[in-house]
Amino acid sequence: MSKVKYVYRFGDGKAEGRADMKNLLGGKGANLAEMNLIGVPVPAGFTITTEVCTIYNQQGRDVAINLIREEVEAAMKETEKIMNAKFGSESGDFPLLLSVRSGARVSMPGMMNTVLNLGLNDKTVKLLAEKSNNERFAYDSYRRFIQMYGGVVLGVEAKKGEHDPFEVVIDEMKHERGIKQDTEFTADDLKEMVVRFKAIVKKHTGKDFPTDPWEQLWGGVCAVFDSWNTERAVLYRQLNQIPEEWGTAVNVQAMVYGNTGNNSGTGVAFTRDAATGEDIFNGEYLLNAQGEDVVAGIRTPQQITLEGSRRWAKSQGISEEERRTKYPSLEEAMPEVYKHLNEVQQKLEDHYRDMQDIEFTIQDGKLWMLQTRNGKRTGAAMVKIACDMIDQKYITEEEALLRMEPGKLDELLHPVFDKEAIASAKVLTKGLPASPGAATGRVVFFADEAEHWADRGEKVILVRLETSPEDLRGMNAAEGILTARGGMTSHAAVVARGMGKCCVSGAGEISVNYAKREFTIGNKTIKEGDWISLNGSTGEVYEGKVATITPALAGDFARVMNIAEKHTRMYVRANADTPHDAKIARDFGAKGIGLCRTEHMFFEGDRIKAMREMILADTLEARKKALAKLLPMQRGDFEGILEAMDGYGVTIRLLDPPLHEFTPNELPAQEEMAKEMGISVEKVIAKVESLHEFNPMLGHRGCRLGITYPEITEMQARAILEAACNLKLKGKNPKPEIMIPLVGTLKEFKHQEQIIRRVAEEVFAEKKVKVDYLVGTMIEIPRAALTADLIAKEAEFFSFGTNDLTQMTFGYSRDDAGKFLPIYIENGILKTDPFQILDQEGVGQLVEMGTKKGRATRPDLKVGICGEHGGEPSSVEFCNKVGMDYVSCSPFRVPIARLAAAKSAVKIKLGK
Ligand code: PEP
Ligand code: MG
Repeated sequence: MSKVKYVYRFGDGKAEGRADMKNLLGGKGANLAEMNLIGVPVPAGFTITTEVCTIYNQQGRDVAINLIREEVEAAMKETEKIMNAKFGSESGDFPLLLSVRSGARVSMPGMMNTVLNLGLNDKTVKLLAEKSNNERFAYDSYRRFIQMYGGVVLGVEAKKGEHDPFEVVIDEMKHERGIKQDTEFTADDLKEMVVRFKAIVKKHTGKDFPTDPWEQLWGGVCAVFDSWNTERAVLYRQLNQIPEEWGTAVNVQAMVYGNTGNNSGTGVAFTRDAATGEDIFNGEYLLNAQGEDVVAGIRTPQQITLEGSRRWAKSQGISEEERRTKYPSLEEAMPEVYKHLNEVQQKLEDHYRDMQDIEFTIQDGKLWMLQTRNGKRTGAAMVKIACDMIDQKYITEEEALLRMEPGKLDELLHPVFDKEAIASAKVLTKGLPASPGAATGRVVFFADEAEHWADRGEKVILVRLETSPEDLRGMNAAEGILTARGGMTSHAAVVARGMGKCCVSGAGEISVNYAKREFTIGNKTIKEGDWISLNGSTGEVYEGKVATITPALAGDFARVMNIAEKHTRMYVRANADTPHDAKIARDFGAKGIGLCRTEHMFFEGDRIKAMREMILADTLEARKKALAKLLPMQRGDFEGILEAMDGYGVTIRLLDPPLHEFTPNELPAQEEMAKEMGISVEKVIAKVESLHEFNPMLGHRGCRLGITYPEITEMQARAILEAACNLKLKGKNPKPEIMIPLVGTLKEFKHQEQIIRRVAEEVFAEKKVKVDYLVGTMIEIPRAALTADLIAKEAEFFSFGTNDLTQMTFGYSRDDAGKFLPIYIENGILKTDPFQILDQEGVGQLVEMGTKKGRATRPDLKVGICGEHGGEPSSVEFCNKVGMDYVSCSPFRVPIARLAAAKSAVKIKLGK
């Protein structure tokens, strides 16, 4: 039996892994291997596979460690050889220090744990000081190690509203010494800090800080595995639909140091602009620092390129003189290193043919790459980069479609600030434009409170000194995020961009006081609950609410839509009930209406009165009288919608909801109805009570209404067909499709169909014109899907109503599921909300079966979906796979559905 390999080595231009081994090595591990293979300088090390994480989670620490111990020891020897250093060395050889980092298949930025400088203790630190001839650097590394290991592995952390205990010591020591920057600490200060940090560990854990490097290493590796299951990682996986089974790999790599002095540094960069998509290399660096300093947002970093630096200075109102002397770009500060970095970034983008997010360290003037991955980007950047890369011949249109995430288009459809409103708004301060968009909300300072406020329907802006991964939930609940510290690559910026959420970071004028729940800018104080607005595209922060408008969509967005159109098989319709919505949908590329819910029209203006009169009527005659009032209103609506979608099919559904939804439930409305109808108020009340149902969604609704009150179906059929005839007479091309709701048996369908066809003949004779029309049905009751072959004998089209179909297949009330679904999801009983994301495993079977059975009877049966799932990318993909003709969704989701449909067509074509 061949032995399973759990540890993959890399270094010195060689690697056991490759870029396409992400499932096993995680994204980071696979790319570290690949970078070695293409000649990019990477510190040597090894990757422990994701399989070990699964074993660790299932069988525990000892089993996992015993399984990999030998392989890790061998890989360590190799790393020592390449780096010419020794792990745990106390004399003689240079001590090898390690970074231990997570790396899942897809990147989960900042969600999991990292430990740097591992291997230091009181002895190795002395040797490091001696060998590097830099005592300050050695003790700076040591204090960082204790701080990180203490937090990540030993669980020493701040309580809510308190500061990190290690940071408190740093601040105290700065105060004692009268200094401002970390870089001003002397070697002796740092030695003292090490002593105080160890005391913190002892106080919090009751134990001494571990000194054995191997004990430290296993602790670090296991902490990375544990971090797969932290609350924030679990939440991130839920938000991004990352399966729990995947696990994380662990990358153990020789440390290189950006903190050995001013000829060293560290940075993060993007090969293109992650916010706008512009094709310019950009990023941030800090001299004499380690990686976490750049992302943690404690020091405000400098720009890598000269152009970026000038843009930054301009946006911050900093003079060229001040910029050049105080905040020079890497291009100016270290021209040789910059040149090398620029070559490497180009090489990486050319190799991966996608925008890269890279991390690097400069040690004593030498460049080392620590990571490369496909960069997270905003929706706007996604669209621009895709178009540019097609033009630059990096990728084909098909590859561009495969890469794009349809859901991200949503951000492009979101509102932006109204130009006039913004011109008169008061600017409070300016930070960095970290993630574009417009956001207005009330200020809150704590992530959990952002969540609670949002739960009760408040729009909030989360304001923090800086964010950390613990704040993820609150960031998700907020409209926007404002931080006082941190650059364009800070946690807040990266995560907000990934979420498509507006963010302004590094607004340095703000001073946040958590205890008082307020922030100040000069002498202006903004308290918790006050309204502010953020412009994530410019970095401006405004006082109060600023009005927003819908953005214009053209350029690259339109091009992506054209590309989608070219490659799609399935088309997209919209769910729309008014000519206005129909027009918006048509502008977004909808080819028809998949669902017009006629009942929505009854709520407008005075119409509800006629509707109530119809419902409250006791006799057929009285009901007909009320229906006669509704007829011209409905006809007018249908004319408008059919005209807005001229030439395309418009599916109009007959009355569906239970009647009590329309009844007057308050006394004044009941009195008004009594007066209107000339009956007593008691009679109205009695009628309303008689309409009460115990389970209205399973009660008197859908075609059951049309069967008990055929005159309703007659009136609606007449309104639709008269509208169509009127348009035809005006030279238009209306294509009505009349849809019968909630059918469960063929006979129900037939009953309603006969009425519609009879009325059609009458209308055509009266109008002396004919229109083509279809009669079809919703498939939203499981029995309809099961007997679809029978129903298709009569029905000319099917539209899957997956809202009701989900309700009835799971037996979860659509209106009450909010009480238990979140708990189901938290406990892993369901992965996602089946009312948002189609349950392909269960409900999907009925959809597939219904489609197949229907087409077996009637091969040209038109099949679509009109439940909420019609605009959700994974559900759209499913609908394409089962061969539907179209999906239908709300107008603003039409572009998303179009992209998802095209992507699915390409996947099928290329066998992906
Ligand atoms: C459905 O049930 O999926 C549907 C589209 O109808 P409604 O949401 O109006 O019940
Ligand atoms: Mg329904």
